[in-house]
Amino acid sequence: MVVVSRDADGRWYVTFQVDTADPEPMPETGHAVGVDLGVKDFAVTSDGERIANPKHLERKARNLARYQRQMARKQKGSANRRKAKGKVARAHRKVRNARQDFLHRTSTNLVCGADVIAVEDLSVSNMVRNRRLARAISDCGWGEFRSQLEYKTSRAGKILVVVDRWYPSTKTCSSCGYVLSGLKLSVRAWTCPGCRTRHDRDINAAKNILAAGQAVARGTSGDACGADVRRGELPRAQSAVKQEPQPVRVGIPRL
Ligand SMILES: [Zn+2]
Repeated sequence: MVVVSRDADGRWYVTFQVDTADPEPMPETGHAVGVDLGVKDFAVTSDGERIANPKHLERKARNLARYQRQMARKQKGSANRRKAKGKVARAHRKVRNARQDFLHRTSTNLVCGADVIAVEDLSVSNMVRNRRLARAISDCGWGEFRSQLEYKTSRAGKILVVVDRWYPSTKTCSSCGYVLSGLKLSVRAWTCPGCRTRHDRDINAAKNILAAGQAVARGTSGDACGADVRRGELPRAQSAVKQEPQPVRVGIPRL
């Protein structure tokens, strides 16, 4: 079947289906990674890698906002309004494409670099209640990123573990398991009262997400050492535990 379509800014698209063989599983890397998704950085990994939102995406988003303001000032039904509308549609497309490109590159890099990827189950709708964060969150494409990770790990014979969102990954010391009573969003680094380890907020969270994810991957593979995680036979995404205050304690050493 061939579908020919035209989008709002006048571009034509031809869509057709092709049959291909199932992809070969990717070679094992022997590596597992935890990923903390954020607003300041798009993502921070347990390896200490920071993946910033690309600057060109921000610039395109600002352009889009400007064109939208311009359009709002034109009279309804006028030729100028129609022209302005075209500009908005083009700016929309550029933002969408730039974001898709960034998300695809980022998810592919992660899937190539690890056998097990652990992410937090961010319930976007819940976080969006904080209005100041709402715009930034809905703009950064976490939902799309998560679904890319799901199908890419599945195709590559790798494992994606989704850790319960009630798990206090940010407030828990990844070295000794000490749990802080609270940690303000503005605090980017802290020292553990239990073991005196100095933590970067996001890297520490990513390490905890990794530990929780590995515990889940171990449990489902039936191998106590976690060295042999079965590939391609597990469900693509697994929820670590149900919604209890501190569900995942396995694999996290405590004093
Ligand atoms: Zn500690």
